[in-house]
Amino acid sequence: MDYRKRFVVDSGSKIHLKDIDPAYAGKLESREEAEREIQRHVARLDALQYLLYADATQSLLIVLQALDAGGKDGVVRHLFTGMNPQGTAVFGFKEPTAEELAHDFLWRVHRQTPGKGQITIFNRSHYEDVLVVRVHKLVPKSVWSERYDLINDFEETLCQGGTRILKFFLHISPEEQLRRFKERLDDPARNWKISESDYTEREFWPRYRDAYEEAMERTSTEHAPWYIIPADHKWFRNLAISQIIADTMDEMDLKVPAARVDLADIRRKYYKEEELP
Ligand code: AMP
Ligand code: MG
Repeated sequence: MDYRKRFVVDSGSKIHLKDIDPAYAGKLESREEAEREIQRHVARLDALQYLLYADATQSLLIVLQALDAGGKDGVVRHLFTGMNPQGTAVFGFKEPTAEELAHDFLWRVHRQTPGKGQITIFNRSHYEDVLVVRVHKLVPKSVWSERYDLINDFEETLCQGGTRILKFFLHISPEEQLRRFKERLDDPARNWKISESDYTEREFWPRYRDAYEEAMERTSTEHAPWYIIPADHKWFRNLAISQIIADTMDEMDLKVPAARVDLADIRRKYYKEEELP
């Protein structure tokens, strides 16, 4: 199954999240079945990240968005484990600081985008500025409604600079969210993750859904597509995302650069005859 085709939001299409099953898992029945596939994709990702780093002409930006307990942290933990930390960065966007609020909404984002050869993962992103900001009326509609076009221009700028952008919405059900909150409640090692707002935000679910739908409808483009990933099953989520990223990187035409020196000359100069191949 080609999950890119299956889950991409076609540019200009309408989205009804209510009609998309968060528990979808294709023909797979269990974690065990998915696990082998995930390992294969993770190994591909590690090799491709090495090439991206060596090639150093392009970069990759991965945007993760979801409601609380949607699995953003889990994706980072599971899929980027084998990569060289030197070529990767994870950045989580929190409530803006006073300094950040004193600038335009893309200011804090632009400076975290990946340089050539780098992969950067955004755990939340500039999309919060049309999501939480819209739902909680942190700025007037006249302000947030202009941001879709600004985001598209921004992402196009990144793209023209050699950055591939992949955006994932981890789609979970309200029931699964509540179950995950309960796990946090019952596990002392994860109590720290709980906040009261996790629960109070649940009443805004329909408004978040509207905000997500419009955001994805208006900003899913060929150069920066959105993917809606059914995420009630963590293993299916990991499988779909790892495949989509690896398939995309396969298309980036990444190559190990040619040597910059005359290898035969180096061999002759610094090694004895019997050491040469
Ligand atoms: P977490 O990802 O659980 O650490 O929480 C980060 C919090 O920061 C979430 O509640 C986000 O909604 C909030 N946040 C992120 N970006 C913004 C933003 N631009 N404006 C307001 N709140 C934000
Ligand atoms: Mg949270």
